[in-house]
Amino acid sequence: MAKTFDHGGGVRSVQVPIPDNPLGHTLVYVVDTDRGPVLVDTGWDDPASWDALTAGLAACGTSVQEVHGVVITHHHPDHHGLSGQVREASGAWVAMHAADAAIVRRARQTRPERWYAYMAAKLTAAGAPEEHVAPLRAPRRRTLPGLAPALPDREIVPGELLGLPGRRLRAIWTPGHTPGHVCLHLEEEHPARRPGHGRLFSGDHLLPEITPHIGLYEDPDDATVTDPLGDYLDSLERVGRLGPAEVLPAHQYSFGDAPGRVRELLVHHEQRLTGLLALLREPLTPWQLAERMEWNRPWPDIPYGSRTIAVSEAEAHLRRLVKLGRAEPVPGSEPVAYVAV
Ligand SMILES: [Zn+2]
Ligand SMILES: [Zn+2]
Repeated sequence: MAKTFDHGGGVRSVQVPIPDNPLGHTLVYVVDTDRGPVLVDTGWDDPASWDALTAGLAACGTSVQEVHGVVITHHHPDHHGLSGQVREASGAWVAMHAADAAIVRRARQTRPERWYAYMAAKLTAAGAPEEHVAPLRAPRRRTLPGLAPALPDREIVPGELLGLPGRRLRAIWTPGHTPGHVCLHLEEEHPARRPGHGRLFSGDHLLPEITPHIGLYEDPDDATVTDPLGDYLDSLERVGRLGPAEVLPAHQYSFGDAPGRVRELLVHHEQRLTGLLALLREPLTPWQLAERMEWNRPWPDIPYGSRTIAVSEAEAHLRRLVKLGRAEPVPGSEPVAYVAV
């Protein structure tokens, strides 16, 4: 059964399931244009997800063959997974921000062994125990999701209109969750004339009930010390200032009062950073910090892969605290430990 919703003003959404994931589904938005529908994101690369997308498009009175273009908020497989298949069926263009397009290119070029070696070195440097690192040194032939994502054929340029025939859709660069995440601002009056400035497709940047994962931008070829959490907080303020009448996120449900949600998230992150500073009264490696941070379940119950993600999130927070001058590395510590200033 196709699950679709009409948001009015030539915008509908299709629920595309994400297999075995508590998020449940990605909302793929279908934006009518003079040349056929344009999709915002496509959903997870899985036969059931494809069936849901095509059935959803049929329920919207169109078909995957009619799709004119695909605008990707960010490269994650629950957003970009089906883009290649949509392009094959329709001849549509696929657009993405250059920073995420670079990740797609790298994912296609990097051998899995290189990723495992890179992750093993990173985790060791973060203070991970041997039993966590060992499986990466002798990886079983596991398949990683998103190893051959579709190369986009258009670049989304921040601040510019996407050139959709008959519509005004502007790209807002919102790095943080990924380096090339974009929100898309539909600069048209709200169909129910709600106060505010148009509607915002927010991807994973701004969601009604959850905070997106903010980790490091992992890149084996780039040693730049980035500050993804700082990027994210800046991007949040930028989106709040837009003051859209309604937010159309990629998961959960649409909502109003973007500035209110932005404030909540800024407060949440400030409280979290303050909580981490209390933990950092004693020197801790990123791994030790992750063990002590609050997650959605106790550390011993967190599965292997999620622990790796948790350490990346701990490191993103440490980067921010160091950048703010509120924490610093302990000289001579190995692996490097951090302490509150
Ligand atoms: Zn994502
Ligand atoms: Zn997502």
